[in-house]
Amino acid sequence: MYSQDVSDNPVYTISTAASLLNISVHTLRMYEREGLILPFKKESHQRLYSDKDLERMRCIRKTISEDKIGIEGIRRILSLIPCWGILSCSKKDRQNCHAYSEYSKPCWMLNHKDNYCTSRDCRTCQVYSSFGNCKSIKDKLKEIIL
Ligand code: SF4
Repeated sequence: MYSQDVSDNPVYTISTAASLLNISVHTLRMYEREGLILPFKKESHQRLYSDKDLERMRCIRKTISEDKIGIEGIRRILSLIPCWGILSCSKKDRQNCHAYSEYSKPCWMLNHKDNYCTSRDCRTCQVYSSFGNCKSIKDKLKEIIL
């Protein structure tokens, strides 16, 4: 999970978030299009970001700049998250879910029709949030693998 003391309250506009991350608004939008981040969306469609979102983006930026893994690579890594195991989906749900067989996009980028995730909010789902920063990704993988 994210650091306990980091707020998930969406308060920053896209321009403030981009400025705090020292990146352009265009880059932040591109990360969203690529499925690396799910900002909170108001009814007006305005996007808002929380401190947890910023933490997530810092991990992504670090992975790109220090570990030399590109956006496509990060997306593929996220697509390998075994969400069905984390949420204990039934066999029937797995058969009816692209996330179980697809490996090019994270589960939260896929259309979920008539399965366990149809009406779930991905932004608050433990699958999305458990893989929110570099430490949580490592901890979650240890939990799953050991
Ligand atoms: S609710 Fe969304 S993030 Fe959670 S497992 Fe389903 S598709 Fe993935």
